[in-house]
Amino acid sequence: MQGEDSQSARPPDADSDSDSESSCSSDDGTYAPFPFAVERVHLDISFNPGTTVVTNTMHISPAHPGQQLGSAAESCKQLVLDGKKLQLLEIHLDGKPLPPQAYTYNQRASKLTLHSVPSSSFELCIKSATHPEANTGLQGLFMRAGIYAAACEAMGFRRISFWPDRPDVLSRWTVRLEGDVAALPVLLSNGNMTAAGQLPGDRHYAAWEDPWPKPCYLFSAVAGKLSVHEGSHTIASSGKQVAVRIYTAPMYEGKRDFVLLSARAAMAWDEAMWGREYDLDGYAMAGVEGFLDDACETKGISLFHVHLLAVTPATHTDEEADESLRLIAHEYFHNFSGNRVTVRDWYQLTLKEGLTRFRDQAFAADYDAAASAAAAATCGTLGSSSGGSSSGLQQGQYEAALLQNIATMAQQMKTAAAEAAAAPAAVSSAPASAPAAPAAAGAVSGPAFPCSWHRVLEAQGIRRDQMPEDEGSLSHPIRPCCGTSLDNLYTDTVYDKGAEVVRMYHTILGHGRFYNGLQTFFQQHDGTAATCEDFCQAMFASSPLASLAPAMMRWYDTNGTPELTIRTTYSPAKQTLTLTVKQELETAKAPLLIPLKVGLIGPDGKDLLLHLMPATTGSSKHIKQAGNRKPSATMPSSSYTPTEVVTPGLCGSECCSMVLLLDSWSGSWVFSRLPEKPAVSLLRDFSAPVRLHVEGETDKSLGFLALHDSNPFARWDAVQRLMTRLLMRLYKVAERAAAGGESAIEAALAAAPGVPPALVAALQAALLNDELDGQYKALMLQLPGVMELVPQMDEPDPELLWMVKVHVGLQLARQLQPQLEQLVQQCDSKLAAAGEAAVGFWPPAVKLRAARNAALGLLSYMEDRQLQQQLLQRYYSANCMTDRLAALELLADEDTPARSAALAHFHDTYRQQPSVLHKWLYVQAASDIEGNVENVRALMRHASFDITDPAAVSALLGGFSDSMVNFHAEDGSGYAFMADAVIEVDRVNPIAAADLAECLADWDMLDEEHQQLMKAQLRRLAGTKGLSADVREIVEDALEEDSSDDSTD
Ligand SMILES: [Zn+2]
Repeated sequence: MQGEDSQSARPPDADSDSDSESSCSSDDGTYAPFPFAVERVHLDISFNPGTTVVTNTMHISPAHPGQQLGSAAESCKQLVLDGKKLQLLEIHLDGKPLPPQAYTYNQRASKLTLHSVPSSSFELCIKSATHPEANTGLQGLFMRAGIYAAACEAMGFRRISFWPDRPDVLSRWTVRLEGDVAALPVLLSNGNMTAAGQLPGDRHYAAWEDPWPKPCYLFSAVAGKLSVHEGSHTIASSGKQVAVRIYTAPMYEGKRDFVLLSARAAMAWDEAMWGREYDLDGYAMAGVEGFLDDACETKGISLFHVHLLAVTPATHTDEEADESLRLIAHEYFHNFSGNRVTVRDWYQLTLKEGLTRFRDQAFAADYDAAASAAAAATCGTLGSSSGGSSSGLQQGQYEAALLQNIATMAQQMKTAAAEAAAAPAAVSSAPASAPAAPAAAGAVSGPAFPCSWHRVLEAQGIRRDQMPEDEGSLSHPIRPCCGTSLDNLYTDTVYDKGAEVVRMYHTILGHGRFYNGLQTFFQQHDGTAATCEDFCQAMFASSPLASLAPAMMRWYDTNGTPELTIRTTYSPAKQTLTLTVKQELETAKAPLLIPLKVGLIGPDGKDLLLHLMPATTGSSKHIKQAGNRKPSATMPSSSYTPTEVVTPGLCGSECCSMVLLLDSWSGSWVFSRLPEKPAVSLLRDFSAPVRLHVEGETDKSLGFLALHDSNPFARWDAVQRLMTRLLMRLYKVAERAAAGGESAIEAALAAAPGVPPALVAALQAALLNDELDGQYKALMLQLPGVMELVPQMDEPDPELLWMVKVHVGLQLARQLQPQLEQLVQQCDSKLAAAGEAAVGFWPPAVKLRAARNAALGLLSYMEDRQLQQQLLQRYYSANCMTDRLAALELLADEDTPARSAALAHFHDTYRQQPSVLHKWLYVQAASDIEGNVENVRALMRHASFDITDPAAVSALLGGFSDSMVNFHAEDGSGYAFMADAVIEVDRVNPIAAADLAECLADWDMLDEEHQQLMKAQLRRLAGTKGLSADVREIVEDALEEDSSDDSTD
């Protein structure tokens, strides 16, 4: 499943009477298996306006037949099923009606108890009714815009029928759907369609069979007036054709090409990279309006919010297209990591989500490389318009080359993996570090998993969204402990930090062993529900590193971000450098296993060969070579290389990066043959989700790395650390002047030492480097976000921090103005030369737009009147949504006539397209213009805001919480408004409301004044009558933090 963003993605179970039940199922929170097996189920759903009737026939047997359990056997005679807000019509057991005294339906507890069932196999048939049209919570069966859809993860199925609603009860399913032929011409469910036909009274039916056992959360049904867009994927080994179908409302016809290509690429990649061949006749994706989550991976038919399936350059930005690509792939990849092997209980959620997120990240990076090479090979500099607006010969060639590239890259990776795993002692030579010059067909021979701008984006996401979660009142490990409400499981920690943990296995084991481990995992657990331990065991099976498994498992159960303190000592006499690394984490009972990828850089800026002394001290255990490539002059060029464990001191002759494995509190490593003191490049590729403290770090030392580090992540990180140091220095200056008011703060900031020359030099070099990827340049130009800095500081004032950030942005813009303007001009002319071709999601154009728009973003700190006019001009003349929205966002931050004109034009232009207008809502809500809270309050009453659509709620109200100035306003108006909004949304959709409430939960990171204001609103919410359990839990958890703080004071 994939949420709106992971923070707002919580499992669909959310009425005021929330099921806070743990799926561990026993009273003490430990896991207990379900005492029955449901081998087969036949579900019959009859859609009728207002009331849908569901008949569920289950073939049940004791889970452990023949086992004499004594008193436990007694309890097994009782069968307890989940069923929520259902109208129970009939129960038959083995064909006979069950008398009312034989069962109890406790509506409050959502439990149906059959007091005594046979001790051998039996058939249970339950008929019930549900009301999808009235279901605004959007879990279970609901109807939006005339389309019925069923979304069940995590606990929605109990709203459709009575069932043991837990992920470890797997059954084989057949489904029959029946409805009015005119209103519901398309009837879809899981698996393969086995029959369809007409019925009397203008009705028809479709029968579906899923050959693979699955738990109920993977059930889905979709019915309505849907138009299909179809393509196919050919399984390489067998030549079998799999139909790939996208279903949406007819209004989205002609807008689904990009998604079809994405899905086909994902299928080709998963097959070639991991040997995962698709297992049904067809794969479908269905788009639903107003879906609670972005998507979910129900078997054979994934459900998406429709804005993710109809993706065109005219309605979607390049970033949105990239996100859609990743989500399309994510849900498809779940077919194996999630569906064929599912989770034993919901606390193991990261098993499927962390692994699948890792897989979608690796895919997205490969897709970027494959698409770039395909564009270069088939379109040259003229390009082709991809994304649906044209389907000419060039477009066909581009798509074919892209698909071929992606399969070739993946295939090469698999071959390399097999070789590496077969010959563990070999130190393989590196493949070309950048996609090789494209052959005629545009094939790339480059490696998969490059450390590209995607990796930087992922690291940035961890710092911006996940690490603050680690510090906040809702901090939890990637596998939360039993007792945590299921509603709090779908978080950035479970998804994104979970993906980092999977990536660490990959870094530690190398691709060959990781590949083998994953195959073992899939083979051992196919058709079952597994745990995180199962995954770890499979990964380390037959690995010489198996003794590290316990330290690795600690990542699953320890919350918080580990901090690494790094000390380097250089000895000119011995020509050695000693690297001492200490790990600290308050919540850790024992040390975690941390892979730290490092490199050394000589005074000439070139990577040095690494020579590690055999007798490393401390508790270092294992040294591993990674990336034994030659230093490369161009960026970003670092690439993943299959890695091998090597004996300390026996590093390969070309080894320029190494992974040091720290599995104790501290360790040290000595590098030799260093006649001059080198610079140390740390945490290359963001090899672990940790924070670094480097002793003796200076602007000068960081400036050197920012100019010379060959690793794209490490170079970007050096720039970020330079920016962070500056922001924190100036914050102290501002804080001292704060008593004197705004003008005193501005004067103090103006008088303080400004942007260090090292930072300016690094950014200038990046801006003028033609070989640097445009999306990477854009990331280089971004200042760290305020909420990313807050957890690293001592309870700062967010408004003051924002002022400091604006000051730094202005200084940077002034100093870099010539280079920024030059970059804008260069990109403009290249895009103009490409003409129409530049409009689509064509990689060269995407990269030019990213760099150009980031440069404009930095320039806009100057609040130049001329620039405002230029932005308005850019807004009107934009030929794609990326450019139009980029201009609108910059215009929206200043209260000018240009702002009003552009906003009005945007609304008029897209008024027929609600999901495009979500951008219009977001841009206004997140704006930093003064006193914006009243505008946002008014927007809540605007005809274009639909409170029943969670995506609209997230755009408007989530957007408002992104404005540091208005959400954190010192008069408390932002928090008060948010509390009002939470109450209002809660009446419609408790899960969406709980997501909003989370932005009020982390008061304890802020300064005293803001703490008091936020807590006042939390207390007001706590005292509100009729609040849903979901919101109440967030509020009470946040206030509990308060009382525990008080008690320790
Ligand atoms: Zn997922």
